[in-house]
Amino acid sequence: MMRNTSSGFFLLGKVVAIQEPTAYVYHCCQICFSRTLCDAERWICMKCHNDCAVVECRYRTCFIISDGLKLVNVTVFGHPLDSFFGCSANDFNRFVQNVQLREEHLKTAVDDRYIYWQYVLVWF
Ligand SMILES: [Zn+2]
Repeated sequence: MMRNTSSGFFLLGKVVAIQEPTAYVYHCCQICFSRTLCDAERWICMKCHNDCAVVECRYRTCFIISDGLKLVNVTVFGHPLDSFFGCSANDFNRFVQNVQLREEHLKTAVDDRYIYWQYVLVWF
């Protein structure tokens, strides 16, 4: 079920795939939340060119969701995914780095956990 209202968007459906397994989290600029790159031990924002003294991780996950009739690509950013992954993006990134998960093992774990679960997504 998908509804687009004047105040937001409502979607009830099942996750059928999660795309871009390498991009569950990224290091973001604290000003504009865009991706940063590490340049000689400094983090530089790719959008506003802020020299970031502190960077934090932010979730970015692309879902393919079915409501039984249509497939919809949905990209979700930030804290709404804390409950989906069960922790903050910083904690998730730290865990992945600490256990040194290989990319394909991480994708399998996330797919096995979340695909075919039904979710309600609401945007305002
Ligand atoms: Zn920025």
